[in-house]
Amino acid sequence: MLIRIKGAISNCYLLLGEKPVLVDTGAPGDLKRILAGLEAHGVEPKDLALILLTHGHSDHAGCAAELRRRTGAQIALHTGDVPLVRAGRNGVIAVQDALGRVLRPFVDEEFEAFEPDLIFKEGIALEPYGLRGRVLPTPGHTAGSVSVVLANGEALIGDVLRGSLVWSNKAREHYFCNDPELNQRSIVRLAREGLLRCHPGVFGSFPGSELGQFLTTDGGEVMALSGEPV
Ligand SMILES: [Zn+2]
Repeated sequence: MLIRIKGAISNCYLLLGEKPVLVDTGAPGDLKRILAGLEAHGVEPKDLALILLTHGHSDHAGCAAELRRRTGAQIALHTGDVPLVRAGRNGVIAVQDALGRVLRPFVDEEFEAFEPDLIFKEGIALEPYGLRGRVLPTPGHTAGSVSVVLANGEALIGDVLRGSLVWSNKAREHYFCNDPELNQRSIVRLAREGLLRCHPGVFGSFPGSELGQFLTTDGGEVMALSGEPV
């Protein structure tokens, strides 16, 4: 079962398999909401099997250090974003649109720096943590962005794309993306998974078919499912 815990800016997700796994930890002020979310679903902090971060931005890694102290769970993060969490800073954030320029100051919060327990490069299997699925590197938004692809066809995609504020079931480009071309290849990688449903870091979820609208380059070329333009 997948439960969305809404933070001030971004979503965290609680995955209830054989063991509970928390994906993302909100912004620095989101601790109470997350602890309340765990409690509401009968999860004792000490039972958490893993804290997995989709990337190292402050609105996803903001409460990671404190949650580790309270739960004893290890924090897993892709190596590409380790410098961000070691500094407790977002680093470079490339704005994509006008709304991004407006929101930019609000996402640049500092957060408690920490050293991740599990630093991975190629992705990890989630079976040891009681879940059927795996972590897939999906860089672009940041160098170390990853998605969690579950065996049931659902995926937590961090900030690869966002949901829509206005329309449910719609995908939109995120306000921020450090490497749009790399991010597009990551969208292709997700499309290749044949996903039923994507759960983004911002706003609501959308069907996997929404990924289709992003499978062309700026020049109008269609991206092959290998991630290359054809
Ligand atoms: Zn982000």
